[in-house]
Amino acid sequence: MPPKKKAAAAPARALPPPNTAHPCASLLPAVLAPASLADRPHPAAYHCFLQSPFYPTEAPTSSAKKRKRDEPALPPPLDSAVEAEVVQRALLAWFDGVKEKRGMPWRKEVDPRTLSEEERGQRGYEVWVSEIMLQQTRVETVIPYWRKWMDKFPTVAALAKADIEEVNAVWQGLGYYSRAKRLLDGAKTVMREHSGLLPSTATGLLSIDGIGPYSAGAISSIAFGERSAMVDGNVVRVLSRLAALHGQQTAKSTTAFIWALADVLVPPQPARKKKAKAADGADGGKKQPLEDVGGPNKPGAWNQALMELGATVCTPKNPDCPSCPLQNQCLSYAEARYVAHAPRAKGDTALTAPSAPDIEDLCTLCSPLPYEDAAEARQHSVEVYPMAKEKAKKREEDTAVCVVEWVPSEDFVGEEGRMVLLVKRPEKGLLAGLYEFPAVDLPPEEASSSTSSSRTKHLNSLLTTLLDIPSSTFRSSDQTSSSTSTPRVISRQALPEVVHVYSHITRTYLSERLVLVSPSPPTLRPAASPSPSKKDDSGKAQLVQSLAGRAKWVHAEDVPTNNIGGAVGKIWEERERVEKRLPEVARKAKKGPAKEGGKGKKPLVEKGQGSLMGFFAKKESVGSAAPEKAKKDAAARKMEEVDDEVIVIDEPKTVELSTEASVVVTEVKVQERSVYKKRRIAPSSDEEDEG
Ligand code: SF4
Repeated sequence: MPPKKKAAAAPARALPPPNTAHPCASLLPAVLAPASLADRPHPAAYHCFLQSPFYPTEAPTSSAKKRKRDEPALPPPLDSAVEAEVVQRALLAWFDGVKEKRGMPWRKEVDPRTLSEEERGQRGYEVWVSEIMLQQTRVETVIPYWRKWMDKFPTVAALAKADIEEVNAVWQGLGYYSRAKRLLDGAKTVMREHSGLLPSTATGLLSIDGIGPYSAGAISSIAFGERSAMVDGNVVRVLSRLAALHGQQTAKSTTAFIWALADVLVPPQPARKKKAKAADGADGGKKQPLEDVGGPNKPGAWNQALMELGATVCTPKNPDCPSCPLQNQCLSYAEARYVAHAPRAKGDTALTAPSAPDIEDLCTLCSPLPYEDAAEARQHSVEVYPMAKEKAKKREEDTAVCVVEWVPSEDFVGEEGRMVLLVKRPEKGLLAGLYEFPAVDLPPEEASSSTSSSRTKHLNSLLTTLLDIPSSTFRSSDQTSSSTSTPRVISRQALPEVVHVYSHITRTYLSERLVLVSPSPPTLRPAASPSPSKKDDSGKAQLVQSLAGRAKWVHAEDVPTNNIGGAVGKIWEERERVEKRLPEVARKAKKGPAKEGGKGKKPLVEKGQGSLMGFFAKKESVGSAAPEKAKKDAAARKMEEVDDEVIVIDEPKTVELSTEASVVVTEVKVQERSVYKKRRIAPSSDEEDEG
């Protein structure tokens, strides 16, 4: 077992002795001296085997002359460092033995060069769908969704003809809904601009909506055999440990280094029908030729192998170094072994004494290791790489929500015949195209101070933009109106707060339930046309996602089967509890002061997938029939997913809604988000949230 970072009471570690064959072995005593480990004054050449273009190149030495012409040169002190081919061979041979284990239907042993153009395009589509689904989602979760998706949209052309509702219906339960939207947009681009065939190069793929550097590298290598890198969280972890690189993960220099290293390490696709030829190994034995490992598509196999290693062996916690195919090339494992066996007695020269590096040769990429003193440094472990990210604090936001129901008579009971108002969210941004109850995102300055009456005022203004009803509908003095055709409010009550955690926001939904009675459901207003800007009473703008022209009445019993997000499912669950007078389920309370309106009620907090999956699972757990099943389901959903996240720039756009003179005019801002592409570290595939 590898050493743990803080294992004060841990038994003696049984790591093998230092790997003195590692090219950096002679530097280990200086770099890992407990007294200086935290300062980490190591030379740049310490990240030796990487053969990175970041290293200075010198005039070729005699050994360098033996390198292939297109192989990057190593710094002079490390001419004999591990070659990329050694790493490639070890990992590809390992991957050959494990690639079938997890039963991924999109993983295929095929030489892309033997496929027709159409077959290549189809292969690209299959890989594209799998890679998008795998972002921040576990393989075992993705497999049934991938099959369902390919049944429903077997080709790019079939997907391009779909609308967002069909796409979201297939995606429902997988979370991060913007991924489904990106696939749909991309399919349309492929049909419109590429005659229905995905481009085969990473550069060409970057021109498709929704495909970034990570996906472009994955698709071009796995589907088309192109020599292109892909870097996600798993790859960052493996490469950082291989190189013992402790750089700030968000620093440009770290990102550039990791991408450059990933680029260098991708093996080329050997020329077809080239006779495999054995080569001399470093130990004088015969190396297994690269042609004989990694199947017919080396770049694709390499990239999948790196991710597989990160997901199954080089895991964030407790990596299985003794079973790792790269243990002899891994610098962080060499470090851990050295520390476990470091000479303590004076004069013990188990390793060669170092020569101090020149100051100009020191590494500029690494930050000090997080050790307070020499005792802590002696617990040095591979887990210290990559450098821990500073956790960004999630924004806390509040949303006022109104569950609007219509019934035909005041004494109406039951769900059958009852209608509920749902509004489709904008086609861009968080939870794009999903349905929700009418909602107003409260301005930040109101988030901690809103009152139920101020929220009610916001919601009243919103409802008069969605429904053809007068503002007087909400005035209690007008509820005794003798007109039987005018909608009247027969009940209005607060629902328990619901807190939903998204990837970058913790949002509290302050909900109320409003029941209207009239002979028929109030007419829906059409999409509003822009009108001259007016200020509302407070002069403050609201962020509103519920827009006129996008609402619909649905039967109450059909609410859960509409394309709704996880938070909406939870709100509906609370409404059902209130309707059926069921007790609340106590859950973790949100930090911070209690809000008026939810006073005395426990807020409901759950980090969920943004899907109905959690909603239904919770229903099961409420009943007494299947607590064990609910527990199992919860374990199966261990992914701890949060809702949509893309790299976004918030670009508020003002859309003024025209309303009749008697209605308070609300300036509405639609929060739009622009996804931009830059070479960055993609969200981890096939990996739980490390947090
Ligand atoms: Fe990761 Fe350990 Fe393998 Fe290094 S030896 S790559 S740290 S599992």
